[in-house]
Amino acid sequence: MKIKTCGVISTLFRVFFLISICAPVGIAGTVVLEGARLIDGTGNPPIEKSVLVIEGNRIKTVGAMGSVPIPEGARVINLRGKTIIPALINLHGHVGLTRGLEQAAANYNEENIRAQLEKYLAYGVGTVVSLGNDQDLVYSLRERQRAGKLPGARLYTAGRGFGVPGGYPPGLASPGDRYRPQTPEQARDEVRELAPHHPDFVKIWVDDDFGRLPKMKPEIYQAIIEEAHRNHLRVVAHVFYLCDAKALVRAGIDGLGHSVRDLPVDQELIAGMKARSVFLVPTLARDESTFAYAKGAPWLADPFFEAGVEPAVLATLRSPAFLEKSRGTPNLARLETAFEMARRNLKTLSDAGVKIAGGTDSGPPLRFQGYSEQRELRLMVEAGLTPMQAIVAFTSAGAEALGTKAEFGALAPGKIADFLVLDADPLEDIRNTEKLASVWHEGKPAKPVSASPRL
Ligand SMILES: [Zn+2]
Repeated sequence: MKIKTCGVISTLFRVFFLISICAPVGIAGTVVLEGARLIDGTGNPPIEKSVLVIEGNRIKTVGAMGSVPIPEGARVINLRGKTIIPALINLHGHVGLTRGLEQAAANYNEENIRAQLEKYLAYGVGTVVSLGNDQDLVYSLRERQRAGKLPGARLYTAGRGFGVPGGYPPGLASPGDRYRPQTPEQARDEVRELAPHHPDFVKIWVDDDFGRLPKMKPEIYQAIIEEAHRNHLRVVAHVFYLCDAKALVRAGIDGLGHSVRDLPVDQELIAGMKARSVFLVPTLARDESTFAYAKGAPWLADPFFEAGVEPAVLATLRSPAFLEKSRGTPNLARLETAFEMARRNLKTLSDAGVKIAGGTDSGPPLRFQGYSEQRELRLMVEAGLTPMQAIVAFTSAGAEALGTKAEFGALAPGKIADFLVLDADPLEDIRNTEKLASVWHEGKPAKPVSASPRL
């Protein structure tokens, strides 16, 4: 009898709990966030005391307090003193490669990818493009997610990317996650094989790892780009050298997935990128990670980093043995010089009006998902961009680079309600994007990383 009563009470409690969970949607299914400073992601000046009306998963209206009607029956949340920005879009990430610090083909599974997408989101990244080391599982995961069955950051993919036999990209876990065409005909065939999967981009690697590996030949990437465009697919290139970047722009590339890191960019590249609307994803956090651990990476002592990393991984990263091993990385000085060149080139290209989209290349070992995107914002500002430019790159410019199907990345009527509520203003200090009060995705609040000691 006692147990039965308990059961009834617990059922009642559950019903009450469910009602209270559902309550944020309000009677009319509408939530109003009022009083926050609102940065809409397009570069417009902030609205100091804003009203943001959300209906379901979409933004209904946005504007200044007093100018926007509050729908009757809506749930109103007071956010005075907070700042709202769109959730971040990472144009260059990877999922399913790493578990802990190890890269292995077996890591490409639903459980691991789900945990990674949830981590991205907890750090404020609402969308991630997995740029080209993906196994075919990615397509069903993307589909399941669109059907509301996979939580976390919204997943886009370049599917299987295009590398070089015996060349770049080196040392990856699974041989089946990329093509390595030997002839233009083979490259065209492989693009035609990829196309029915509807990848969001096609990824190619054009690099030789400081002359150590064979580089993709122009006739191969020319064939890939032409065939991709014939199939209405856009191509993003991993680049390192200025000469390759210029040749790729001439060949019709749609985006550069990294910075030019050997030489200062020149007028020819700038003019070509602007004329063809080629976007740049700088991935400064990636370049910094290649040498920073040898100097005892400053983020190892940062609680915001620690909050998303397993204790055992953290212990390894902080160990003297790891520091010693990192100091043995080949080409350390060249990698640091490449990072400096990337920073300089980002500033030049941004000043010249080239489209900059936020991205990090997070996901491989030592490039931590979620934290990397937050760090990239800071690195972009340290490179000379304004906080507003960095935010725009990671929001509306990212959505624009993704194409017309991206109905997020800006806070405007009709857009999907993906946004971050911050405790402080990132225009005053870009590091305030780390002060996450809440992360909203598809119109619903999710728990940010800072709210829990560890994920
Ligand atoms: Zn990458």
